[in-house]
Amino acid sequence: MVSPSQTPSQTQQPVAGTPSTAASSQGGGAGSVASPFGAQAQPAGLNIVVLDPAHGGTDPGARGTGGIRESEIVLDFAIQVRRALELQGFQVVQTRQGNENPSFDDRSATANAQRGAVFVTLHISSTGMQGTARVYVNADLPPVADSNGLIPWDRAQAPFLGLSKTFGDLVQGFLAQRFKGSPEAAQTASVRQLRTTAAPAIAVEISSVTVEDRADLDRMAPGVADAIARGAAAFKPSYIVPTTPGRLP
Ligand SMILES: [Zn+2]
Repeated sequence: MVSPSQTPSQTQQPVAGTPSTAASSQGGGAGSVASPFGAQAQPAGLNIVVLDPAHGGTDPGARGTGGIRESEIVLDFAIQVRRALELQGFQVVQTRQGNENPSFDDRSATANAQRGAVFVTLHISSTGMQGTARVYVNADLPPVADSNGLIPWDRAQAPFLGLSKTFGDLVQGFLAQRFKGSPEAAQTASVRQLRTTAAPAIAVEISSVTVEDRADLDRMAPGVADAIARGAAAFKPSYIVPTTPGRLP
Protein backbone atom coordinates (compact mmCIF):
# COMPACT_ATOMS: atom_id res chain seq x y z
CA MET A 1 0.00 0.00 0.00
CA VAL A 2 1.10 3.53 -0.60
CA SER A 3 0.72 5.70 2.49
CA PRO A 4 -1.11 8.93 1.87
CA SER A 5 0.39 12.23 2.90
CA GLN A 6 -0.30 13.39 6.38
CA THR A 7 -0.91 16.97 7.33
CA PRO A 8 2.35 18.76 6.64
CA SER A 9 4.45 18.95 9.75
CA GLN A 10 5.91 22.10 11.16
CA THR A 11 9.49 20.98 10.80
CA GLN A 12 11.45 23.28 8.58
CA GLN A 13 14.46 21.24 7.63
CA PRO A 14 16.36 22.79 4.76
CA VAL A 15 16.98 20.44 1.87
CA ALA A 16 19.31 22.52 -0.21
CA GLY A 17 21.82 25.28 0.12
CA THR A 18 23.29 24.27 3.44
CA PRO A 19 26.68 22.59 3.57
CA SER A 20 26.63 19.38 5.53
CA THR A 21 28.92 16.50 6.28
CA ALA A 22 26.02 14.10 6.63
CA ALA A 23 26.39 12.51 3.23
CA SER A 24 26.47 8.96 4.50
CA SER A 25 24.79 6.45 2.25
CA GLN A 26 22.75 5.30 5.20
CA GLY A 27 21.28 8.72 5.79
CA GLY A 28 21.43 10.52 9.05
CA GLY A 29 17.90 11.25 10.15
CA ALA A 30 15.47 14.00 9.38
CA GLY A 31 18.04 16.73 9.77
CA SER A 32 20.28 15.52 7.00
CA VAL A 33 20.61 17.68 3.94
CA ALA A 34 22.18 17.08 0.59
CA SER A 35 25.67 18.43 0.52
CA PRO A 36 26.39 20.56 -2.51
CA PHE A 37 30.08 20.62 -1.62
CA GLY A 38 30.90 17.11 -0.56
CA ALA A 39 30.47 15.19 -3.77
CA GLN A 40 33.37 16.22 -5.98
CA ALA A 41 34.26 12.60 -6.57
CA GLN A 42 31.00 11.98 -8.41
CA PRO A 43 30.43 13.25 -11.92
CA ALA A 44 27.32 15.42 -12.19
CA GLY A 45 24.64 13.19 -13.58
CA LEU A 46 22.22 10.50 -12.59
CA ASN A 47 24.30 7.70 -11.09
CA ILE A 48 22.46 6.49 -8.04
CA VAL A 49 19.11 4.88 -7.49
CA VAL A 50 17.84 4.88 -3.92
CA LEU A 51 15.63 1.84 -3.63
CA ASP A 52 13.07 1.79 -0.83
CA PRO A 53 11.47 -1.54 0.04
CA ALA A 54 8.50 -0.05 1.87
CA HIS A 55 7.29 -1.01 5.35
CA GLY A 56 9.26 -3.60 7.39
CA GLY A 57 9.83 -4.38 11.03
CA THR A 58 6.66 -3.90 13.04
CA ASP A 59 4.89 -2.62 9.90
CA PRO A 60 4.08 -5.55 7.58
CA GLY A 61 2.19 -3.36 5.11
CA ALA A 62 -0.65 -4.98 3.20
CA ARG A 63 -1.45 -8.54 4.21
CA GLY A 64 -3.12 -11.08 1.97
CA THR A 65 -4.58 -14.47 2.38
CA GLY A 66 -2.07 -17.22 2.96
CA GLY A 67 0.22 -15.05 5.04
CA ILE A 68 1.51 -12.86 2.22
CA ARG A 69 3.15 -9.75 3.69
CA GLU A 70 3.92 -6.70 1.59
CA SER A 71 7.03 -5.92 3.66
CA GLU A 72 8.62 -9.30 2.78
CA ILE A 73 7.72 -9.33 -0.89
CA VAL A 74 9.08 -5.85 -1.59
CA LEU A 75 12.40 -6.89 -0.08
CA ASP A 76 12.54 -9.86 -2.44
CA PHE A 77 11.60 -7.63 -5.37
CA ALA A 78 14.32 -5.19 -4.36
CA ILE A 79 17.01 -7.85 -4.85
CA GLN A 80 16.00 -8.26 -8.49
CA VAL A 81 15.46 -4.54 -9.08
CA ARG A 82 18.90 -3.84 -7.65
CA ARG A 83 20.54 -6.40 -9.92
CA ALA A 84 18.81 -4.99 -13.00
CA LEU A 85 19.82 -1.43 -12.11
CA GLU A 86 23.42 -2.44 -11.50
CA LEU A 87 23.51 -4.08 -14.93
CA GLN A 88 22.50 -0.66 -16.32
CA GLY A 89 25.48 0.87 -14.53
CA PHE A 90 23.67 2.45 -11.60
CA GLN A 91 24.85 2.43 -8.02
CA VAL A 92 22.01 1.27 -5.77
CA VAL A 93 21.49 2.40 -2.20
CA GLN A 94 18.74 0.62 -0.25
CA THR A 95 16.85 2.23 2.59
CA ARG A 96 16.65 -1.12 4.34
CA GLN A 97 18.44 -4.42 3.82
CA GLY A 98 16.43 -6.61 6.14
CA ASN A 99 13.33 -6.57 8.27
CA GLU A 100 13.82 -3.10 9.74
CA ASN A 101 11.37 -0.22 9.55
CA PRO A 102 13.21 3.06 9.03
CA SER A 103 11.02 6.13 9.49
CA PHE A 104 9.71 8.03 6.48
CA ASP A 105 12.17 10.79 7.28
CA ASP A 106 15.09 8.36 7.55
CA ARG A 107 14.22 6.94 4.15
CA SER A 108 14.01 10.39 2.59
CA ALA A 109 17.26 11.38 4.30
CA THR A 110 19.00 8.45 2.61
CA ALA A 111 17.92 9.84 -0.75
CA ASN A 112 18.52 13.48 0.15
CA ALA A 113 22.12 12.73 1.17
CA GLN A 114 22.91 11.55 -2.36
CA ARG A 115 23.83 13.67 -5.30
CA GLY A 116 22.55 12.67 -8.70
CA ALA A 117 20.02 10.19 -7.40
CA VAL A 118 16.47 9.12 -8.10
CA PHE A 119 14.21 7.51 -5.52
CA VAL A 120 12.01 4.47 -6.07
CA THR A 121 9.73 3.14 -3.33
CA LEU A 122 8.34 -0.38 -3.89
CA HIS A 123 4.88 -1.43 -2.72
CA ILE A 124 2.46 -4.30 -3.15
CA SER A 125 -1.14 -3.12 -3.15
CA SER A 126 -4.15 -4.72 -1.52
CA THR A 127 -6.35 -3.77 -4.48
CA GLY A 128 -6.16 -3.54 -8.25
CA MET A 129 -6.23 -6.11 -11.00
CA GLN A 130 -3.84 -8.95 -10.27
CA GLY A 131 -0.78 -8.95 -12.48
CA THR A 132 -0.72 -5.19 -13.09
CA ALA A 133 1.59 -2.45 -11.81
CA ARG A 134 1.12 1.27 -11.30
CA VAL A 135 3.52 4.16 -10.87
CA TYR A 136 2.58 7.11 -8.68
CA VAL A 137 4.20 10.50 -8.44
CA ASN A 138 3.36 13.01 -5.77
CA ALA A 139 0.47 15.38 -6.35
CA ASP A 140 1.23 19.07 -6.72
CA LEU A 141 2.98 20.70 -3.81
CA PRO A 142 3.04 24.49 -3.92
CA PRO A 143 6.76 25.31 -3.78
CA VAL A 144 7.03 27.55 -0.76
CA ALA A 145 10.43 28.77 0.36
CA ASP A 146 10.98 30.24 3.78
CA SER A 147 12.61 33.63 4.40
CA ASN A 148 16.07 32.15 3.91
CA GLY A 149 15.14 30.81 0.51
CA LEU A 150 15.21 27.27 1.81
CA ILE A 151 12.57 24.75 0.90
CA PRO A 152 10.84 23.21 3.91
CA TRP A 153 11.59 19.53 4.48
CA ASP A 154 7.96 18.53 4.02
CA ARG A 155 7.87 20.09 0.55
CA ALA A 156 11.24 18.79 -0.60
CA GLN A 157 9.63 17.07 -3.57
CA ALA A 158 8.07 20.26 -4.97
CA PRO A 159 10.95 21.33 -7.27
CA PHE A 160 11.26 17.80 -8.64
CA LEU A 161 7.63 17.07 -9.52
CA GLY A 162 8.09 17.57 -13.27
CA LEU A 163 11.14 15.31 -13.35
CA SER A 164 9.34 12.75 -11.22
CA LYS A 165 6.48 12.68 -13.73
CA THR A 166 8.90 12.21 -16.63
CA PHE A 167 10.65 9.37 -14.80
CA GLY A 168 7.35 7.85 -13.69
CA ASP A 169 5.87 7.90 -17.19
CA LEU A 170 8.93 6.12 -18.56
CA VAL A 171 8.79 3.36 -15.96
CA GLN A 172 5.01 3.04 -16.33
CA GLY A 173 5.39 2.72 -20.09
CA PHE A 174 7.74 -0.23 -19.71
CA LEU A 175 5.46 -1.78 -17.08
CA ALA A 176 2.44 -1.43 -19.39
CA GLN A 177 4.29 -3.26 -22.16
CA ARG A 178 5.01 -6.13 -19.80
CA PHE A 179 1.86 -6.26 -17.67
CA LYS A 180 -1.33 -5.94 -19.70
CA GLY A 181 -4.02 -3.85 -18.06
CA SER A 182 -1.54 -1.53 -16.37
CA PRO A 183 -1.99 2.21 -16.97
CA GLU A 184 -0.05 3.86 -19.78
CA ALA A 185 1.11 6.85 -17.73
CA ALA A 186 2.06 7.55 -14.14
CA GLN A 187 -0.71 8.71 -11.83
CA THR A 188 -0.55 11.38 -9.18
CA ALA A 189 -1.43 10.85 -5.54
CA SER A 190 -0.44 12.22 -2.18
CA VAL A 191 2.30 9.83 -1.23
CA ARG A 192 3.90 10.47 2.14
CA GLN A 193 7.21 8.88 1.25
CA LEU A 194 7.68 11.01 -1.85
CA ARG A 195 6.83 14.38 -0.31
CA THR A 196 10.03 14.69 1.75
CA THR A 197 12.34 13.41 -0.98
CA ALA A 198 14.55 15.97 -2.74
CA ALA A 199 15.10 13.98 -5.92
CA PRO A 200 13.00 12.67 -8.81
CA ALA A 201 10.88 10.15 -6.93
CA ILE A 202 8.28 7.52 -7.80
CA ALA A 203 6.24 4.85 -6.05
CA VAL A 204 5.81 1.54 -7.88
CA GLU A 205 2.83 -0.49 -6.68
CA ILE A 206 2.26 -4.07 -7.78
CA SER A 207 -1.12 -5.82 -7.58
CA SER A 208 -1.69 -7.50 -5.29
CA VAL A 209 -1.39 -9.30 -1.96
CA THR A 210 -4.75 -10.94 -2.66
CA VAL A 211 -3.23 -13.46 -5.10
CA GLU A 212 -3.99 -17.04 -4.15
CA ASP A 213 -0.41 -18.14 -4.65
CA ARG A 214 2.60 -16.03 -3.81
CA ALA A 215 4.33 -17.42 -6.89
CA ASP A 216 1.98 -15.26 -8.97
CA LEU A 217 3.65 -12.19 -7.47
CA ASP A 218 7.17 -13.62 -7.57
CA ARG A 219 6.78 -14.20 -11.29
CA MET A 220 6.32 -10.45 -11.78
CA ALA A 221 9.63 -9.49 -10.16
CA PRO A 222 11.87 -9.83 -13.24
CA GLY A 223 9.51 -7.72 -15.35
CA VAL A 224 9.17 -5.07 -12.67
CA ALA A 225 12.95 -4.98 -12.23
CA ASP A 226 13.49 -4.66 -15.96
CA ALA A 227 10.93 -1.84 -16.28
CA ILE A 228 12.48 0.17 -13.45
CA ALA A 229 16.00 -0.31 -14.79
CA ARG A 230 15.04 0.57 -18.35
CA GLY A 231 13.03 3.53 -17.11
CA ALA A 232 15.97 4.84 -15.09
CA ALA A 233 18.31 4.42 -18.05
CA ALA A 234 15.86 6.21 -20.35
CA PHE A 235 15.40 9.00 -17.81
CA LYS A 236 19.11 9.54 -17.26
CA PRO A 237 19.62 12.07 -20.10
CA SER A 238 16.65 14.13 -18.81
CA TYR A 239 18.18 14.78 -15.43
CA ILE A 240 21.01 17.25 -15.33
CA VAL A 241 21.99 17.46 -11.69
CA PRO A 242 22.24 21.13 -10.71
CA THR A 243 25.84 22.15 -10.06
CA THR A 244 25.16 25.48 -8.35
CA PRO A 245 24.96 24.94 -4.60
CA GLY A 246 21.54 25.72 -3.27
CA ARG A 247 19.77 25.69 -6.59
CA LEU A 248 17.24 23.09 -7.50
CA PRO A 249 15.97 22.43 -11.02
ZN1 LIG B 1 2.85 -0.21 0.85
